[in-house]
Amino acid sequence: MKRLFQSIFVAILALFIVLVVRTLGVPKPAEPAAASGAVTVDTALAAERLGEAVRFATVSYASGAPIDTAAFRGFHAFLERAFPRVHQAARREVIGGLSLLYTWPGADPTLAPVVLMGHMDVVPVPEPNLKDWTHPPFSGAVADGYVWGRGTLDDKTTVLSILEAIEGLLAEGITPARTIHLTFGHDEEVGGRYGARVMVDTLVSRGVKPALVLDEGGFLAQDLIPGVKGRAAIIGIAEKGYLSLRLRAIASGGHSSMPSGRTAVGALSRAISTLEADPFPSSIDGPTRGMLQAMAPYSPFDTRLVLANLWLTAPVVKRLLASTPLGAALLHTTTSPTMLSAGIKDNVLPPEATAVVNFRIRPGETQATVMERVRRVIADTMIAVEPTDSARTDPSPVSDVGSPAYALLANTVRAMAPGERLPVLPYLVMGGTDAKYWGPHSDKVFRFLAVPLGAGDEARIHGVNERLAVKDFGTAVGFYTRLIKGLGTLP
Ligand SMILES: [Zn+2]
Repeated sequence: MKRLFQSIFVAILALFIVLVVRTLGVPKPAEPAAASGAVTVDTALAAERLGEAVRFATVSYASGAPIDTAAFRGFHAFLERAFPRVHQAARREVIGGLSLLYTWPGADPTLAPVVLMGHMDVVPVPEPNLKDWTHPPFSGAVADGYVWGRGTLDDKTTVLSILEAIEGLLAEGITPARTIHLTFGHDEEVGGRYGARVMVDTLVSRGVKPALVLDEGGFLAQDLIPGVKGRAAIIGIAEKGYLSLRLRAIASGGHSSMPSGRTAVGALSRAISTLEADPFPSSIDGPTRGMLQAMAPYSPFDTRLVLANLWLTAPVVKRLLASTPLGAALLHTTTSPTMLSAGIKDNVLPPEATAVVNFRIRPGETQATVMERVRRVIADTMIAVEPTDSARTDPSPVSDVGSPAYALLANTVRAMAPGERLPVLPYLVMGGTDAKYWGPHSDKVFRFLAVPLGAGDEARIHGVNERLAVKDFGTAVGFYTRLIKGLGTLP
């Protein structure tokens, strides 16, 4: 008996030592960035230009409603007026009717170019929400220290801050070390099939193998990352896949006074509730594991102990993360029933009932594996499962956080916060971005816009009162300025 206790004690001690040694082995946090040359941006003037950009209602409609091509053409003309140096130094091509591809030749044409992406289109504003806006969504009002309106977070800020940075660099007489391509899509909000996809194909067909591709998707998170106090830069290294499936139940129909057998509505309801009750499995791997590991150096000892020993603590960490919608979405493929339709009259049994369920697919799974699992879980011959016509994609490949491109992004972000130990974390982007079209061609695809988002700000994206602080726009411009100046350091 005594011997048993002794061996249990030794085992616990050994485990304890392993946990602590692994925790102590976590690398130190990055040194606070040294103060480097400040980037001066005339933020007031830049904010006025962003406001003007917002006034063009370049809306993409998911319904497939025709877009206002005059608004896009007006926006193009505005860019030419507002950024004359860019339009003189760079070659501009109109692609896919309304997207813009710029080529700014670098000093050394033999170096691999860099691609900076953004999109010009915005989502519509639902009529009933109009009254909730402090300033109308297409007013581009500059008031109370903010620029207000659609596109200030998603994604005219990206387009404008890139152009502001380049206009400023050109005014200083700077030529980039390597060629820079800008691709500004016109249909990102509806999948990017006619804008970004065609621009990527165009560049690939010209032999472009980018040293870095940067699009929207990550940001400066303010108190948003569980376990990290204060600010953290989250850089998207992959994005989830997208699949909408239509579930269709077929039944005999008939008069509601004499229902017979299973009804279409009953079978469909059962299928949906079965799916919801059996969510996709969670796992801590890929970008999410990378994020947790990158958080460890910045966490207090107890959290660090947990993060440094995921081999043992993964089940606990999973449960903690799964308790919030954001955390859960990082762990698994999400299941969201979004549309439902059946019946035309209260006393007629519908012969057909349909639902659309939207899945955001985590890296490691594919459209095919999702579809296979959905059919298996529903296991009902009355239910047919087919993809809808919406754009659908597999998850993107995961970009390389060990690459010089990632290091350049991380160092550029840190340089903006001299004296601060700013955590830079890799991140799995939940929504889709135009960057997905680079997936098959490059493992140096990253997603980040240097604007801070805090609690409540995320709801403004595609929501009410989308706005950006004037000083934060200056930060975004400063980020691109630094980044472009640092491009010579890439191999
Ligand atoms: Zn966007």
